[in-house]
Amino acid sequence: MDKETFRRFGHEFVDWVADYFDNVSRYPVRSPVSPGEIKAQLPTVPPEEAEPMERIFSDFKEVILPGISHWQHPGWFAYFPANNSPPSVLAELLTAGLGAQCMIWATSPAAAELEEVVMEWLRQMLGLPAGMAGVIQDTASTATLCALITAREAATGFSSNRVGARQPLVVYASSETHSSIDKAVKIAGYGSDNLRRIATGNDFAMLPEALERAILQDKSVGLRPACVVATLGTTSSTAVDPLEPIGEICQRHGLWLHVDAAFAGSAALLPEKRGMLRGAEMMNSFVMNPHKWLLTNFDCSAYFVKDPGLLVRTFEIHPEYLKTGQDAVVHNYRDWGIQLGRRFRALKLWFVIRTYGVEGLRAMIREHLRLAQLFKGWVEEDQRFKVLAPVEFSLVCFRLERPGISEEERARLNQTLLDRVNSSGRVFLTHTSLKGQYAIRMAVGQRTTTENHVREAWELIRSAADAL
Ligand SMILES: *Cc1c(COP(=O)(O)O)cnc(C)c1O
Repeated sequence: MDKETFRRFGHEFVDWVADYFDNVSRYPVRSPVSPGEIKAQLPTVPPEEAEPMERIFSDFKEVILPGISHWQHPGWFAYFPANNSPPSVLAELLTAGLGAQCMIWATSPAAAELEEVVMEWLRQMLGLPAGMAGVIQDTASTATLCALITAREAATGFSSNRVGARQPLVVYASSETHSSIDKAVKIAGYGSDNLRRIATGNDFAMLPEALERAILQDKSVGLRPACVVATLGTTSSTAVDPLEPIGEICQRHGLWLHVDAAFAGSAALLPEKRGMLRGAEMMNSFVMNPHKWLLTNFDCSAYFVKDPGLLVRTFEIHPEYLKTGQDAVVHNYRDWGIQLGRRFRALKLWFVIRTYGVEGLRAMIREHLRLAQLFKGWVEEDQRFKVLAPVEFSLVCFRLERPGISEEERARLNQTLLDRVNSSGRVFLTHTSLKGQYAIRMAVGQRTTTENHVREAWELIRSAADAL
């Protein structure tokens, strides 16, 4: 591509993205295509001859876009949000342009030093204990895997890195824990049989007494408890595991405490939500995702550790071709995680924090919390519906009750309701199961979502219920 074409399309694409931000609510939130529909429109062999950008861009609009679900749509209430923002997108353009591979300090000193500084800003913003050090990972899944591998090494005096796993080690998490913990337990060599799913109370938060009982039981049969994963904001219902009693149990029995706050961690920006971090000084590691609820486009996951020395000792490598004279005085982030090659992700987080200011980010989160409470109030006022879990953050779990029918029929009824609401193309909500009960999830968290969008969702839900 010649530089004039790059410039012309560069301007055109920025205009296109700016228009997309303005017009995203005109698209159906969830892509309506059927499986195979997009693939059928694409050539099965690569082009031998060069194609003009006009044609490629036109195919993007005609073929690809219909198969995109619009996560930045103000009617996005599905899963959790993955919200982005104009400054974050602009920073990504610069990151792509620089094309720097930021594996070690020497391969781009500014990337390493900015990451260190921005993660320290974020630590302060979240009110995490002084001294915790942060590193950006691609996802919370990777951060949790790093935590579980480090916990494994800490429990075995760093011998399993050398000789492989010998003695079975046990991991504890609540029955509401995220599937990334199941995955990490498998990959890190603990084995799925050595993951204990601890019971939760009516609020879906881990019961500390049940945790301690499980640890004692395992010890009594000669197993070796190694790590507890506590969740602040579970994926199904944003339940908050009680950190302080869990931390005390970990201290008592010498276990690693990893905290998964992938979604709800952003709420720690608000002093009124900091209570969930009581006991945080007992955490060994903590993860939250700026790519979920902090306006930083995917991917950007913030992993904090109490003792970076243990992390580095677990992951460091010293091939001759990567040795530099500065290794003792700088951070080489290749040793802070799994991947060697690293994108320059700190740049977009820096742009976001500076563009909005901490107060601006707090205002967004407060507004989402307000909208969720408002929605919850509407659900409670309508006798046909029931709220199924405490609304700790911006997620409301609810369902259409209809007494006198079986649990199975009720699940089907709510599924139909959800399908009809989503088919409108105006909003997108997803579901979960809470102690066997089918629940519709209304997750507020899009940058451009306003009270009107939440009201529209509720009206669509009510009229779908009227018609059932
Ligand atoms: C979303 C989520 C994850 C997974 O996040 P990724 O960054 O997609 O790996 C893990 N834990 C919780 C509680 C989540 O909500």
